Amino acid sequence: MVKAAKFGGSSLSDADQFRKVAAILQADPTRRFVVVSAPGKRFSGDDKITDLLYKCADLSSRREDFSPAFGPIRERFLSIERDLSIESAHISETLDGIEAELGTGRTSRDYVASRGEFLCAKLMGAYLHVPMVDAAQLIRFTEDGKLDMEATACYCAPLKDLPRAVIPGFYGAMPDGSIRTFSRGGSDITGAIIARAVGADEYENWTDVDGFMMADPRIVPEARTMHAVSYTELRELSYMGASVLHEESIFPVREARIPIHVRNTNHPEASGTWIVNEGTLMKEHRHSIIAGIAGRRGFTMITLTKDNLHKQPGFAYTLLKILDRHDIPVESMPSGIDNLTVVLNDTDIKGKMDQLYHEIRTELKPDTMEIASSIALIATVGHGMARTLGVAARLFTALSAAGVSSRIIDQSPKEMNLIVGVDQRDFENAVRAIYRAFCE
Ligand code: ASP
Repeated sequence: MVKAAKFGGSSLSDADQFRKVAAILQADPTRRFVVVSAPGKRFSGDDKITDLLYKCADLSSRREDFSPAFGPIRERFLSIERDLSIESAHISETLDGIEAELGTGRTSRDYVASRGEFLCAKLMGAYLHVPMVDAAQLIRFTEDGKLDMEATACYCAPLKDLPRAVIPGFYGAMPDGSIRTFSRGGSDITGAIIARAVGADEYENWTDVDGFMMADPRIVPEARTMHAVSYTELRELSYMGASVLHEESIFPVREARIPIHVRNTNHPEASGTWIVNEGTLMKEHRHSIIAGIAGRRGFTMITLTKDNLHKQPGFAYTLLKILDRHDIPVESMPSGIDNLTVVLNDTDIKGKMDQLYHEIRTELKPDTMEIASSIALIATVGHGMARTLGVAARLFTALSAAGVSSRIIDQSPKEMNLIVGVDQRDFENAVRAIYRAFCE
């Protein structure tokens, strides 16, 4: 058994958190490959190291004084080093080097941001007496900035021979050796890549919650933690607003069928949430019909009516072409015999609505065109829904009992995702009603 274990920023925010991580690693020697984020917030209102580094990069590129942002970074790393008595990490010298590079005003933003993970991995390596392997030597991008899976697999191959290693998350190197970061939260991706590369049996993702909640606990305070969720369910839920792992972290492990186990550094006794493929989920884990409920506010629906619209295949095509011209993705597109609706995200249509209205009118000549804004979409997700009779009846009975009317309904062909659009003011009520209908 081999495990790759990734620890997020809150698991590494100070020396006490480092101690918890070391205890977790000690408890299970199969946790051989450790991926670290940069230290996160210690308390609400605190700064994340990565945010401070971006501030330094921006100030330095404008040739402004970056020391107010760099001071707290230095202090945080030095205090962890001091508290853990790991002077062998020589963090002060590394910090001096970064400060000098910032002083030139010519360092790249990605390089500066990546130093949080780099320094953190150095400290963790020294603390655990385990070698730190720089992610720039493992993770490679292609010329156009995409992850180069082939090169990465080659560079990562020697890792397998190491008894243990600490690897900084969040970044890799371009073909010319310069540093490139993933998008924010990208250490999750590094963890997945490393798990895959070393052929891990499990990818542990250690964070500061007991697992994924079946609904947003700010809306449903009694929401339970999911015991297990499939990769696909998770993607649907995170797309619809559940804040979970970095989206792209699923791909490398899903292909290799490596389960992800989300766990809490501050509460390692909790069983966490398993992310597995659908077969394993239904066979070994799932007892409930749904995995969870997620939703987002801020959508607009455009409904076009025209007689016999369903017999004009070019109608939908022209509409999509207009939207494409404006770079507007479609969230959902339910249709009837004489009408067609597109649901669009408000951020995508900002400032474009007048032009859009005009083009739709002139190119499609609909009989009527209705625009409804302030819509929230709620997705109820679960493979079990496809195998169960009366799911929709249960959901809509719950909504009507709560006095919520649905403005739009969209069910994915695989029946694992039922999306309901409601007026924004009904959003929280609707989420609570659906949760209670399926989870109580
Ligand atoms: N430190 C980076 C961030 O704050 C990456 C990560 O934590 O995964 O986004």
